[in-house]
This record gives sequence, C-alpha cells and structure tokens, in this order.
Amino acid sequence: MIALYEWNKASIGKLLWDLNAKKDRMWITWIHHFYMKGTNCIDYIPPTHASWIVKAIFKHKEELMNSTVWDVFRSRGGYCTRDMYKLLRGVRPKVRWKKVILGNCARPRDTFITWIEFLGRLPTKDRLRRFGIQNDGLCVFCGTNEDIQHVLFECDFAINIWNQVLDRDEKYRWATNGVMGMDWIISNTKGKSMKCRKAKLIVAKTIYSIWTTHNMIIFQNHTKDFFQLGELKVVAPWCKKLIENGHGDVWYGYPPVVCDEGDDDDDGGYDYAPAA
Ligand SMILES: [Zn+2]
Repeated sequence: MIALYEWNKASIGKLLWDLNAKKDRMWITWIHHFYMKGTNCIDYIPPTHASWIVKAIFKHKEELMNSTVWDVFRSRGGYCTRDMYKLLRGVRPKVRWKKVILGNCARPRDTFITWIEFLGRLPTKDRLRRFGIQNDGLCVFCGTNEDIQHVLFECDFAINIWNQVLDRDEKYRWATNGVMGMDWIISNTKGKSMKCRKAKLIVAKTIYSIWTTHNMIIFQNHTKDFFQLGELKVVAPWCKKLIENGHGDVWYGYPPVVCDEGDDDDDGGYDYAPAA
C-alpha cells in the first residue's frame, strides 16, 4: 500500500529535478522562458497568476532540494522517485500480518474484515461498551462475555467451524501450539506454497463468515444456522484445485454452488463477482 501524499510529492520531485537540470523538453523550455527567466529553481517563487502545476512543482522545493537524497541524486546524476518516497515516508515498523492480507486469494470483503480484526477494531460488545454504548455484553452464540478473541476463536461455535475448515495438519498444530488467534494464523500461513495460500484464503473466509453470522444474529434476528458451513467445505478443495492450476484470482471465479448468496445488486449474477 502506497502513501499517496508522499508518493505524489516524490513524483513532483522528478519534475523539479528535470526543471533544475534544464532538460531538453518543450515544457521545461517553456517554463524557463515564460516563468523563471534565468532564475534558478531554489530561488524562484512562482507569481500568483502562475498555473497550478507550476505552483505545485515549486511548493515543496525547499524540502525536496535540501534533502539528503537530493545530494545523492546529484552525485549519481539521476533522480529516483522511490528513494525520495522512502525518505519522505520515513522508517516505519512492519506489521507482522502483512503477508496474510496481501496476496490473499480471498474476496476483498473477506480480507477487509480480517484486516480490521488484526487491527483489533471489529465492534464487539466489549469494545462498544468502552465507547459508552450500552449492551448486554454477552456472546450471541453461547451467552458468555464477548470479546473478539472469544467470538472468532474461543467460542464453541467458532471452534466447531475452525475444526471443520482446517485440515488435519493444521488442527494438529492448533492443538499443540496452544491459542488460536493472530499469532497462530501468522505462523501457519508463512510461505508461498499452495498449502499456505489455501490456508490464508480459508482463514479470511472463515473470519468473515463467523463475523457476518454474528452480525446477522444481532441485526436480522437470524439463528446460528445462518452460517453455511457447506460453503466452506466446498471452497477448501475447490480453491486448492484452482491454485494448483495457476489461477490466483479465486474470489472472482467462485463456482456457482458457492456463489449463491443472493443477488443484492440485481445484476442477474452472483454477488461474488463484480457487477457488469
Ligand atoms: Zn461464545
């Protein structure tokens, strides 16, 4: 994921570099002739009537031209947008769950909910209480105290689901490695093998399905039976076959038996695929 503000600034730096180097291009000659008139880039201040692109190029000139990488570019004789972007972005800690989300073959809605879960921001009842929103605080599946770890991994309802969708090796590792949760998911979905890609897809799909069922019970008076376990049982072997055949965009081509979740957008097709 790219930080667009910093990337735009780094990209504008390339235009500034070309202007400063007086490269033999028509737009550069034009700006030098009509605006700058012999002034160098660091001293030039665009007039108020200048076009927005000229103002944008010179808006961050001090920050860009006085940066440490600008001197490196000078000695190297060329500008590098990526290096400038890295400098502007600064050093940031990497999140451990990055590879569970990126490159995940699940549908965007599955990975989005999984991402929110990793951030710890799914609005469970304990979290809503912390915001001052009163509720009974009880798990909709079993009636004990509700928090995110309980709903997705420790509730009997969730454990039953995970037991159905994980394969024998994964279940063994769960039993021997202790607590199911983010740490377990990260350590058991490392790698680029077909098995890991399948595991990532199943994790995202399962988290989405449990959370959707949780919400359906609260907001639409469904029962626990709303969860269609059959769907996951079909997805697991099917996506394995598809990944083996070299197709990564699994979410787009779900088989009809799995896709039949209704047709909310009335496009005559299944809602897994984008509307035409
Ligand atoms: Zn529960």
